[in-house]
Amino acid sequence: MTATQSITSHASDEARPLKILIVGAGIGGLTAAIALRNQGHDIQIFEQSHLATETGAAIHLAPNANGLLRRLGIFAEQFGANPMERLTEYNATGEVQRQMNLKEANKRWQHPWLLAHRVDLHRNLKRIATTATKTRDAIPLRTASRVAQVVAETASITLEDGSQFHGDVVLGADGVHSATRHAVPGGQLKAECRGKSAFRFLVSKEAAANDPITAKLVQHPGELSIWYGNDSRIIMYPTSDNTVLNFVLIHPEDESAADCDNSWGQQGNLQKMLQIFDKFDPTILRLLGKAEPQSVKVWKLLDMDIVPQWHHHRLALLGDAAHPFLPHQGQGGAVAIEDAISLAVVLSPGISTTEVPELLRLYHDIRHERATRIQGFSRAIGEDRTDDKQLDIYGFTNFNFGHDEWDNS
Ligand code: FAD
Repeated sequence: MTATQSITSHASDEARPLKILIVGAGIGGLTAAIALRNQGHDIQIFEQSHLATETGAAIHLAPNANGLLRRLGIFAEQFGANPMERLTEYNATGEVQRQMNLKEANKRWQHPWLLAHRVDLHRNLKRIATTATKTRDAIPLRTASRVAQVVAETASITLEDGSQFHGDVVLGADGVHSATRHAVPGGQLKAECRGKSAFRFLVSKEAAANDPITAKLVQHPGELSIWYGNDSRIIMYPTSDNTVLNFVLIHPEDESAADCDNSWGQQGNLQKMLQIFDKFDPTILRLLGKAEPQSVKVWKLLDMDIVPQWHHHRLALLGDAAHPFLPHQGQGGAVAIEDAISLAVVLSPGISTTEVPELLRLYHDIRHERATRIQGFSRAIGEDRTDDKQLDIYGFTNFNFGHDEWDNS
């Protein structure tokens, strides 16, 4: 080796902050940006949308996610998230089947299970990422910047307008319809509709509480209620300081729902929704009838085969790009947050750029099995209910939260 070669290779091996390009400013991408900035790295985020009208309704911040956010100094209670305090399961006709005191369980879990509004969570993650701290610069976030191509070997991305950027690492946090996934071996997979749709909307809790008939369903703060039919279910929980009720109504695939490539924003039809659920308890139907017709959205639930490998050279996937979950356990956001923090642990300060591919492999190795199991639980919980099928739902929940015990009092 010549002296020049030796100096060049030493210079590129030098431990210095990594230049990390993040594709997608969703929950996973923004959390990764904040956590990796804390490790001293130099981050840039590329987001396809304008992020001007961020959408979504409520999202679970289960103890596994909430604890990690707290370690980043993010306390979701400060922007309206409320703790989940009770779980009530009904049959379709409104008889209580089971009730659990989660207030007690929340004391045992290290961190409470919170119900947040996705828009509030997203807005606050974006604010934290794009604000300078005493020791760290604001993270540049380029909106209207759709990434069209990724080269994993050189950690390069090309935007739709042809501009190119090069880094030491590229993180694909570009959600369920990820383009970066295609740059990973075996990642040429597409999320598919597999037979279920969901209506989603919010109702003011005050409107529900002021009606003496529906008031009894909403008396308890932080209560998650589920009405189970055979192939349909109604899920209700409060968010935004217990002022708003979030509804998700799952039912066999609805042709009026958005096509599979347009998952979140399609207008739903309130009357059609009430018709689909007309065999359910009249009290819950009365409450559903309080939805603002314009607020009802409908989408087809997406699932995908397992991505065998989440990393390739200098590229790694996280969140829905790596493992789109069906929504039945509310773990999509939580596991994206876990992935983000794991990347920040693996890409610790002081590593050299040549170590990156091996460290991304390590990230894959420590995360893949856990996420795949949770993906499987989410499928199982969403299956139609039959009397002879007993699912260990609370065993799943313990696994997700990393706890051995479930308080069943
Ligand atoms: P996401 O949060 O989906 O973020 C992916 C981001 O990547 C998006 O901002 C997207 O615009 C961007 N992107 C995609 N392709 C490209 C590209 N080629 N170049 C640049 N950027 C790109 N979950 C719930 O539980 N409740 C909800 O109400 C809810 N609403 C949602 C509304 C929207 C609009 C979205 C996008 C997701 C919603 N989710 C909701 C899903 C939930 O937020 C995610 O499942 C979870 O947080 C995983 O996060 P993620 O970062 O992997 O993906």
